[in-house]
Amino acid sequence: MSAERIWLTRPQTDEAEIDEIREVLASGTLTQGPKVVQLESMVAGLVGTRHAFATTSATTALHLTLAALGIGPGDEVLVPDFTFPATANVVAQQRATPVLVDIELERFGLDAADLDARVTSRTKAIIPVHAFGLAADMDPILEVAARHELVVIEDAACALGATYGGREAGTFGTAGCFSFHPRKSITTGEGGMITTSDDALADRIRLLRSHGGVREENRFTFEAAGFNYRMSDILAAVGVAQMRKLPAFLEARRRVAGWYAAALADVASVRLPTVPAGSEHTYQSYVVLLDEDLDRDQTIRRLRDDQIETTLGTYALHVQPYFSRSYGYRPGDRPRSRRAFDSSLALPLYGAMTEGDVARVADRLQAALAVA
Ligand SMILES: *Cc1c(COP(=O)(O)O)cnc(C)c1O
Repeated sequence: MSAERIWLTRPQTDEAEIDEIREVLASGTLTQGPKVVQLESMVAGLVGTRHAFATTSATTALHLTLAALGIGPGDEVLVPDFTFPATANVVAQQRATPVLVDIELERFGLDAADLDARVTSRTKAIIPVHAFGLAADMDPILEVAARHELVVIEDAACALGATYGGREAGTFGTAGCFSFHPRKSITTGEGGMITTSDDALADRIRLLRSHGGVREENRFTFEAAGFNYRMSDILAAVGVAQMRKLPAFLEARRRVAGWYAAALADVASVRLPTVPAGSEHTYQSYVVLLDEDLDRDQTIRRLRDDQIETTLGTYALHVQPYFSRSYGYRPGDRPRSRRAFDSSLALPLYGAMTEGDVARVADRLQAALAVA
C-alpha cells in the first residue's frame, strides 16, 4: 500500500476566486482596471505605504523599480549570493553590475559586515532579500545604507505579511517588491507588487509600468521607453480574493511550522528556522539546514521514494554559470551561501497540511538522514 503523496506546496483557491473572476469577465475591463486598483489599495493598506503598484511578477517589480530609480551602466548593486537568481538578473538587465554578498546562516539574510566591505564608489543600491519569508536583519543593513547613502530596495517576494521590529516588510527600503507566484503568501498565478511611500518614485513607476505614456484627453504622450508590466484585472481579481484570506493563510502556515518545530526539536543534525524577537515569519518555505556531512540530495531522493516532495532551499549565485562566467566568481567565494546551497532543505508546508502529515514528514526525514 503506497502512502498518499505530500507535495512541497499547494495553493489554496475556492469559489471566492472564481466569483471574482466572473465579475471581471462580465465587466468587459480585462486589462489593468478597478480590480488592480482594489488589490493595490489592499496591499498598501496591509503593508502601510502610500503607494502600491501591481506588476506581472516580482521580477518585473524589481526591474521596474531599478529602471525607475535610474540604475544603469557603471552602477553596482549589492545583492545577497543566496537567493533566487531574479534578484540579481534584474540588475544585469539594467546593464549595471550585481555584486554578490555573503549571508549569515541564522536568517539566511545579507551579512552586514560583508555588505559593508563590498561597497565601492560605484555602489548605488542594496537589494536585501527576506529569505523564505523571514525579514533580513534590517537594522545593520540600513545602517550601512545610510552611512554610504545607498538606496534600499527590498526583495520581499516571499514576505507579504512578514514583520521586523514590529514593522511590515516592504516599508524598510525606498521600495519593496512582492511576488504572487503560487509558492508565495498569496497567489494570482503570476503577479507582483511594488510598495513605496516615495511620491517621486511612484510617479516614475506609474509612467514606466505602461509604455512611458502620459494620458492627455484622448491620447498618450510618450515620455520614456517604458515597459508593459501591467497586471490584468482578471488576475487582480484572484488577488483580491486571496488578500481577504491572507490572515488565515499566515495563521495556518505558522501552525504547521509549530508542528515541525515540535516534531524535529530533538533531531540534532537538522537546524530549524528560528524567529528572532520582534519578527514574524510567513514560512513561505520551511527551510532547514542539515549538518555539513549529510547528503542533502540523497535525502531529497529518499523522501521522494517515500512520496514526500522536498527541494533545496535556494541558489548560491556565484556558482551559477552566468554569474561565474560574467563576473569571475569561483566556487566557495561566498562560503556561507555555498554551505546553505549545499545543505538547505525545504520541507512541505501549506495550509491544508495536517499534524499527521507533519509527523510523517518528520519520521521519513529522520529515516532518510540515518542513511545519508
Ligand atoms: C519568487 C522569488 C522571486 C521571483 O518572483 P516572481 O514573481 O516569480 O518573479 C524573486 N526573489 C525571490 C527571493 C523569490 O523567492
